[in-house]
Amino acid sequence: MRSEAGRGRSSPARAASAPEKPERILTGLAVSQGIAIGPIALAEAAAITVERRALFDDQVPHEIERFDAAVAQSRRQLAKLKARLAVLPEDAVRELEPLLDAYAQMLGNSRLTRGIRRRIGEAKINAEAAVEEETEALAHALLAGDDDRAGRQRRADEVREIGRRLLRNLTRTPFRNYAALPEGSVLATEVLTPADAALLEPGRLAGVAAEEGGLEGHTAIMLRALALPAVLGVAGLMEEASPGELAIVDGSAGTVTLSPTPDTLAAARKALGAYAREKQRLAKLRRLPAVTKDGEPVELQANLELPVELPLIAQSGAVGIGLLRTEFLFMNRDDVPDEDAQAEAYTQIVEAMQGDPVTIRVLDWGGEKQIESLVAHGWVPGAGGENPALGVRGIRLLLKETDLFEDQLAAILRASLKGPVRVLLPMVTVPAEVRAARELYERVARRLKRRGLDLPEPLPPLGVMIETPGAALAADGLALEADFFAIGTNDLAMYTLAVDRSEVGAASLYDPLHPAVLRLMQFAIEAALRMRMPVSVCGEIAGDPKLTPLLLGLGVRSLSMTASAVPRVKQAVRSVEIDACARFARLVMEQSDPQRIAELVAQFGQKLKAEA
Ligand code: PEP
Ligand code: MG
Repeated sequence: MRSEAGRGRSSPARAASAPEKPERILTGLAVSQGIAIGPIALAEAAAITVERRALFDDQVPHEIERFDAAVAQSRRQLAKLKARLAVLPEDAVRELEPLLDAYAQMLGNSRLTRGIRRRIGEAKINAEAAVEEETEALAHALLAGDDDRAGRQRRADEVREIGRRLLRNLTRTPFRNYAALPEGSVLATEVLTPADAALLEPGRLAGVAAEEGGLEGHTAIMLRALALPAVLGVAGLMEEASPGELAIVDGSAGTVTLSPTPDTLAAARKALGAYAREKQRLAKLRRLPAVTKDGEPVELQANLELPVELPLIAQSGAVGIGLLRTEFLFMNRDDVPDEDAQAEAYTQIVEAMQGDPVTIRVLDWGGEKQIESLVAHGWVPGAGGENPALGVRGIRLLLKETDLFEDQLAAILRASLKGPVRVLLPMVTVPAEVRAARELYERVARRLKRRGLDLPEPLPPLGVMIETPGAALAADGLALEADFFAIGTNDLAMYTLAVDRSEVGAASLYDPLHPAVLRLMQFAIEAALRMRMPVSVCGEIAGDPKLTPLLLGLGVRSLSMTASAVPRVKQAVRSVEIDACARFARLVMEQSDPQRIAELVAQFGQKLKAEA
């Protein structure tokens, strides 16, 4: 829940822009709870400085590949924008459609792309310089001539616009500059990548609304982690919202209300107050144990994506970190952090947890996570046209880039001198990956011991994420190699249901309660329990109190979630009995219709509420 900015006074743009606009309510995906009231801010486009670099002959093919990847990414972005046109008013579509078509044409086999490739190959210069020089040359050529000046200017602007998009994609420059957003504003943007989200200052912003994004994408996860009320996938947002216009973001209902009427505004303020009181009530649970009514203890831990969350974790009552996503260390920078820098970062977190355990997941690069420092090392997901979610992601990359992996393992082991840690491997699908990782892990440990480090004996546990159907169905084999399982339901649901977790288009089909996902989870949980091996759930469903009885009933006793969810989940744990949860889980697992499962979950929740 955010405080309201500009309460009681009209925002600057409203004052300047007569006539007043009517109230409009846009809908999207409710990704991060809470209500924000504030003026719309559109972040400034970040400036891109291009340096001209001369290439050696053998660098040319790689540079052309980089350019092709930027073209492919730009085409994907434009295709997405075009797909969203359907929901816009007719005159906006008439305006935008030909423009997007013109852009798409320029990204095909056009004078522009041919010219850029030629410059890279013949002038032997980097792709960025080739894009800039060719774009300018073409724009000048278009402007030369006295006929149809307006048409010429429009075409030159289009060429420059596509050049800027290519440069942004080549240099991984965020679309916007987030540092200068006015305090208390509601950020409205077309896209917000996970790396962009890492740049947001939660204390400055009231809330976030974006046209793109899915329910369980990493952007959504980060916004929840930052406790910023947010709605993603808001069709027509950029068309409708004007800078400075007053907006209400309802991150629970999934709505963005522009220019609210006085009644709507009063209702939102009331909801804001109620939310704050509920938060205060839940804060009182912090010191109470997470035990069911019949005395079964449950471990509730926090997921951490950014170090700024540490104080939130301390306030939440979480006992340790069940998933430390280390990607943040590699984002928004050009170089890869070395062993010392990583050791310092992990040590700070381990020390801050004051003896509570920390599960550190090694780098999970790939899929929708684009990490600049690795791109600079030539790792561009989808560069060769492959699907980045199915390619060299997570452990697959680390086993190829063993220097990177060894540095990270060494840094984690150094941090383990300061408190209990566990090491978690992402995107594992076969036991051989765990064996190879363990071999490297032990080799790194031997090297550190030779350097005089007094490492824990045995070494900190090495576990695997169960986040693909393959890993879940072969969990018995993985259980022989791993020391613990952490079930990642975000990816498990994506890969099982063939629905991109960060896409708005098919969001209604993304359902972690689909029986296929639940059966895979059950299979993996039972494999772990048979081996008496620790198993936790660290996907986003772990933070949904409605699902706590089901997860407990399936045999899970350890849940890791965004810090702000801990009090509500603790309340759910304290209100159930394990036997009832087990009966409920059996009933759910007999179902084959996701809708029926959703109904049963809702009914069980209502029953608990009535009993409370
Ligand atoms: C998951 O996939 O459920 C998970 C916890 O990992 P991430 O969200 O970082 O991919
Ligand atoms: Mg995952």
